[in-house]
Amino acid sequence: MDERYFERRLWVGGTEINYLFICPTKLWYFSHGVTMEQESEWVDLGKFLHEKSYFGEEKNIKIGPISIDFIKKGDIIEVHEVKKGKSMEKAHEMQALYYLYYLKRLGIRAKAILNYPKLRETKEITLEGRKKEVEEAIKEVERIKSLPAPPKPVKTKKCKKCAYYELCWV
Ligand code: SF4
Repeated sequence: MDERYFERRLWVGGTEINYLFICPTKLWYFSHGVTMEQESEWVDLGKFLHEKSYFGEEKNIKIGPISIDFIKKGDIIEVHEVKKGKSMEKAHEMQALYYLYYLKRLGIRAKAILNYPKLRETKEITLEGRKKEVEEAIKEVERIKSLPAPPKPVKTKKCKKCAYYELCWV
């Protein structure tokens, strides 16, 4: 697999799954190249995953809000996500599941941990029993992307902080 393709696909796929659970309109804009959010903070994951020398060493890399630790013990990768609150918990969880799903397809065992330091809580997520959920989400992403126009926006409190606010409401 071409590394650049892999990196891009993983980043886009994870973001699309996240947006599906935040707002379908947002997902449509993003998937049609209307990128108003910062991409610069995103660092390549694929490069790290393809360099075997990184396995077995403790590393910390970031893909947007996702922080991935490579853990020595048992060669299990932990996908960590640090969050302020739980208002978008479902989106975070599904994005993490998408990474686990993708890693599994590459033959890599992993689990995800959502961290809520302010709440002093963590939530462990595994792909076990949830593969179908991810596949359904991927199908729904594809359906929304194929629409000829963005789904009608629905105003929620998420809109205030959304980069597409002006497109929807001004
Ligand atoms: S402004 Fe609101 S409706 Fe529009 S894309 Fe963002 S979250 Fe969705």
